[in-house]
Amino acid sequence: MKNCQRCGTQLDDNANQCPRCGATIQRSTNPFADQPLPVAGGPVYYPPPPPPSSAADDPAMSWVIPVHNPVLAIVSSYCGLIGLGCPLLGPIAVVTGFLAIQQIRKTPGLTGMGRCIFGIVSGVIGSLVLLLVILALIASNLS
Ligand SMILES: [Zn+2]
Repeated sequence: MKNCQRCGTQLDDNANQCPRCGATIQRSTNPFADQPLPVAGGPVYYPPPPPPSSAADDPAMSWVIPVHNPVLAIVSSYCGLIGLGCPLLGPIAVVTGFLAIQQIRKTPGLTGMGRCIFGIVSGVIGSLVLLLVILALIASNLS
Protein backbone atom coordinates (compact mmCIF):
# COMPACT_ATOMS: atom_id res chain seq x y z
CA MET A 1 0.00 0.00 0.00
CA LYS A 2 1.02 3.58 -0.58
CA ASN A 3 -0.47 6.94 0.15
CA CYS A 4 -1.20 9.88 -2.05
CA GLN A 5 1.72 12.32 -1.90
CA ARG A 6 -0.64 15.28 -1.84
CA CYS A 7 -3.58 14.30 0.38
CA GLY A 8 -2.39 11.16 2.05
CA THR A 9 -5.28 8.98 0.96
CA GLN A 10 -4.53 5.34 0.89
CA LEU A 11 -4.20 4.16 -2.69
CA ASP A 12 -4.21 0.91 -4.56
CA ASP A 13 -0.80 -0.25 -5.54
CA ASN A 14 -1.90 -0.14 -9.17
CA ALA A 15 -3.59 3.27 -8.97
CA ASN A 16 -2.33 5.91 -11.38
CA GLN A 17 -4.42 8.69 -9.98
CA CYS A 18 -5.68 9.59 -6.52
CA PRO A 19 -9.48 8.94 -6.36
CA ARG A 20 -9.89 11.77 -3.81
CA CYS A 21 -7.77 14.67 -5.07
CA GLY A 22 -7.02 13.50 -8.56
CA ALA A 23 -3.26 13.83 -8.19
CA THR A 24 -1.21 11.78 -10.57
CA ILE A 25 0.58 9.03 -8.75
CA GLN A 26 4.24 8.79 -9.58
CA ARG A 27 5.02 5.15 -9.87
CA SER A 28 8.38 4.04 -8.73
CA THR A 29 10.86 3.66 -11.53
CA ASN A 30 12.42 0.78 -9.68
CA PRO A 31 10.56 -2.38 -10.75
CA PHE A 32 11.70 -4.16 -7.59
CA ALA A 33 10.61 -1.42 -5.19
CA ASP A 34 7.33 -3.15 -4.36
CA GLN A 35 8.98 -6.46 -3.66
CA PRO A 36 9.77 -7.24 -0.04
CA LEU A 37 13.32 -6.57 0.91
CA PRO A 38 15.38 -9.56 2.00
CA VAL A 39 15.06 -9.88 5.75
CA ALA A 40 18.27 -9.18 7.62
CA GLY A 41 19.38 -12.28 9.42
CA GLY A 42 17.42 -14.47 7.07
CA PRO A 43 18.86 -17.45 5.30
CA VAL A 44 22.00 -16.35 3.53
CA TYR A 45 23.85 -18.67 1.24
CA TYR A 46 27.43 -19.17 2.23
CA PRO A 47 29.66 -21.03 -0.21
CA PRO A 48 31.02 -24.22 1.32
CA PRO A 49 34.53 -23.77 2.67
CA PRO A 50 37.27 -25.29 0.56
CA PRO A 51 38.36 -28.70 1.79
CA PRO A 52 41.34 -28.41 4.11
CA SER A 53 44.51 -29.22 2.29
CA SER A 54 45.78 -32.43 3.75
CA ALA A 55 49.37 -32.50 4.86
CA ALA A 56 49.65 -35.96 3.35
CA ASP A 57 49.02 -34.56 -0.13
CA ASP A 58 52.15 -32.46 -0.01
CA PRO A 59 55.28 -34.59 -0.33
CA ALA A 60 57.37 -32.10 1.61
CA MET A 61 54.81 -31.85 4.40
CA SER A 62 54.35 -35.62 4.52
CA TRP A 63 58.04 -35.92 5.33
CA VAL A 64 57.77 -33.42 8.18
CA ILE A 65 54.38 -34.70 9.35
CA PRO A 66 54.32 -38.35 8.27
CA VAL A 67 50.57 -38.95 8.27
CA HIS A 68 50.57 -42.15 6.27
CA ASN A 69 53.81 -43.52 7.65
CA PRO A 70 53.72 -46.34 10.16
CA VAL A 71 55.17 -45.38 13.51
CA LEU A 72 57.88 -47.98 13.12
CA ALA A 73 59.12 -46.31 9.95
CA ILE A 74 59.40 -43.01 11.79
CA VAL A 75 61.17 -44.68 14.71
CA SER A 76 63.50 -46.44 12.29
CA SER A 77 64.42 -43.31 10.37
CA TYR A 78 65.10 -41.30 13.50
CA CYS A 79 67.00 -44.13 15.20
CA GLY A 80 69.06 -44.48 12.04
CA LEU A 81 69.75 -40.77 11.92
CA ILE A 82 70.70 -40.56 15.58
CA GLY A 83 72.42 -43.93 15.30
CA LEU A 84 74.99 -42.40 12.96
CA GLY A 85 76.25 -40.48 15.96
CA CYS A 86 75.14 -42.90 18.66
CA PRO A 87 75.76 -46.42 17.34
CA LEU A 88 73.70 -48.05 20.09
CA LEU A 89 70.55 -47.05 18.20
CA GLY A 90 71.76 -48.65 14.95
CA PRO A 91 70.37 -52.14 15.59
CA ILE A 92 67.06 -50.65 16.71
CA ALA A 93 66.83 -48.70 13.45
CA VAL A 94 67.48 -51.89 11.43
CA VAL A 95 64.89 -53.96 13.29
CA THR A 96 62.19 -51.28 13.28
CA GLY A 97 62.95 -50.53 9.63
CA PHE A 98 62.30 -54.13 8.58
CA LEU A 99 59.18 -54.34 10.74
CA ALA A 100 57.89 -51.11 9.19
CA ILE A 101 58.48 -52.44 5.65
CA GLN A 102 56.42 -55.51 6.54
CA GLN A 103 53.69 -53.25 7.91
CA ILE A 104 53.72 -51.07 4.77
CA ARG A 105 53.46 -54.13 2.51
CA LYS A 106 50.52 -55.51 4.51
CA THR A 107 48.61 -52.24 4.81
CA PRO A 108 47.53 -50.48 1.61
CA GLY A 109 47.75 -46.71 1.79
CA LEU A 110 50.76 -46.65 4.04
CA THR A 111 53.86 -44.97 2.70
CA GLY A 112 57.29 -44.37 4.10
CA MET A 113 59.32 -47.06 2.36
CA GLY A 114 62.11 -44.56 1.72
CA ARG A 115 62.06 -43.69 5.40
CA CYS A 116 62.44 -47.39 6.27
CA ILE A 117 65.29 -47.87 3.84
CA PHE A 118 67.02 -44.79 5.21
CA GLY A 119 66.57 -46.14 8.72
CA ILE A 120 67.93 -49.58 7.78
CA VAL A 121 70.91 -48.27 5.83
CA SER A 122 71.94 -45.77 8.47
CA GLY A 123 71.14 -48.38 11.11
CA VAL A 124 73.46 -50.88 9.44
CA ILE A 125 76.21 -48.26 9.37
CA GLY A 126 75.61 -47.51 13.04
CA SER A 127 75.58 -51.22 13.83
CA LEU A 128 78.90 -51.74 12.04
CA VAL A 129 80.38 -48.86 14.02
CA LEU A 130 78.99 -50.42 17.18
CA LEU A 131 80.46 -53.80 16.20
CA LEU A 132 83.87 -52.20 15.59
CA VAL A 133 83.69 -50.49 18.97
CA ILE A 134 82.84 -53.79 20.68
CA LEU A 135 85.64 -55.58 18.83
CA ALA A 136 88.04 -52.83 19.78
CA LEU A 137 86.99 -53.09 23.41
CA ILE A 138 87.44 -56.88 23.34
CA ALA A 139 90.79 -56.52 21.65
CA SER A 140 91.98 -53.97 24.19
CA ASN A 141 90.87 -56.27 27.03
CA LEU A 142 92.69 -59.21 25.53
CA SER A 143 95.98 -57.39 25.16
ZN1 LIG B 1 -4.80 12.58 -3.13
